[in-house]
Amino acid sequence: MAADRPVLIAGGGIGGLALALALSQARRRTIVLERRAKFETEGAGIQIGPNGVHILRRLGVADALRATVGEPECIAVREGASGKLLAELPLGAWLSARHGAPYWVAHRADLHAALLGAVVDCGRVELRTGFEVASAAPTQSGVLATCATGKTVPGALLVGADGLWSSVRRLIAPAAQPVFVGATATRTVIPAPYDGPLAAPVVGLWLTPGVHVVHYPVRQGRDVAVVIIAAEPWQGTDWNVPADADISRTRLEGFHPALADVLTGARDWRKWALHHLAPLPTWNDGRITLLGDAAHPMLPYLAQGGVTALEDAVVLADALARAADLTSALAQYESLRRWRTTRVQQLSWRNGRIYHMGPPLAWARDAVLRLVPGARLMAGFDWLYGWQSPAPRGLSD
Ligand SMILES: Cc1cc2nc3c(=O)[nH]c(=O)nc-3n(C[C@H](O)[C@H](O)[C@H](O)COP(=O)(O)OP(=O)(O)OC[C@H]3O[C@@H](n4cnc5c(N)ncnc54)[C@H](O)[C@@H]3O)c2cc1C
Repeated sequence: MAADRPVLIAGGGIGGLALALALSQARRRTIVLERRAKFETEGAGIQIGPNGVHILRRLGVADALRATVGEPECIAVREGASGKLLAELPLGAWLSARHGAPYWVAHRADLHAALLGAVVDCGRVELRTGFEVASAAPTQSGVLATCATGKTVPGALLVGADGLWSSVRRLIAPAAQPVFVGATATRTVIPAPYDGPLAAPVVGLWLTPGVHVVHYPVRQGRDVAVVIIAAEPWQGTDWNVPADADISRTRLEGFHPALADVLTGARDWRKWALHHLAPLPTWNDGRITLLGDAAHPMLPYLAQGGVTALEDAVVLADALARAADLTSALAQYESLRRWRTTRVQQLSWRNGRIYHMGPPLAWARDAVLRLVPGARLMAGFDWLYGWQSPAPRGLSD
């Protein structure tokens, strides 16, 4: 692939910025085409498993981020109505020693700002905002991306890192359509309480039939990010739609007051409709490929959608650097990523069903959580958290 032409990246989210950084390390020029007028991040918290932290280190952003993240001691799983502790799945020093990198919890804005800062500093990435990629067509030696306004930009390759509702995916797999799963994630960030379960340095997971809540400290423990996942028919496509605080309070009625009372005062709830997408027939078409949620959107029950987008970014950058030509690079990338991301998607889906079980299945689930040591349960995720990116190499043409 001719190294003089830039790689075009549609979308400046977690995956798109990580790819721009990984390519800049291979001395490759990129143009990030972001549809929004400026780079801002909505959302609340994000959990970054050791597989993601390894990549942030490689991309040179871990140091900038370290000051803002938390390193929770465990995932504290509770029976939601009684608040009783069912299991403590070790994170902290235990997981860090196991995989050579910690488990972090961060505010999404901090992660995005760290990636963006590194992109700006690297000097090889051009950022174009207000550019909504609407279509793309092959040219004699590359690809031409067209903005919704009609503007065009040429490049060697177009990577669709444009999220769940990807326009680039429509060029590759026009029939693929995310399917609403009948639930929403409603999120807020609250000031950290002084005591009680939400003050603990843990990822808290509270389970009731059909509704679960996740919380963890962000911004050096000053705040707590909270997500409620519950059945709801609303099917919007935006990230950042205000949610009715009264409905959130109703959802919390089945939970122990140690959780519900703390969240009663929260006013600023935002919601996001959850969608599933069946595996695509292919991720590539000529000089166009996909990455992150555009290729394999994840339900949030395993907290790995952003992290797998980071993994995609370094694998794609390495394939482009190593392979003899673009076609083999993209084929190699897809074959390295498809199996793993499908497995993560499936496990995430399964986790959601387990979280929302009602009796009698929930009793069996809770018995397993009580009886099996947390370290043994976590060891079952070694394949997930133990993944490491290949070592970076120089760019071949
Ligand atoms: C409730 C919830 C909790 C989550 N928690 C976690 C977690 O703890 N850990 C984790 O790893 N993941 C988590 N995720 C998943 C994670 O948020 C996503 O998987 C991740 O953001 C995907 O990154 P991306 O770069 O592929 O897409 P996005 O982050 O969606 O970025 C896409 C970008 O493309 C831009 N764009 C869209 N269309 C166009 C276009 N046509 N042209 C140009 N630009 C365009 C958008 O404006 C955006 O900037 C969670 C998700 C949800 C819903």
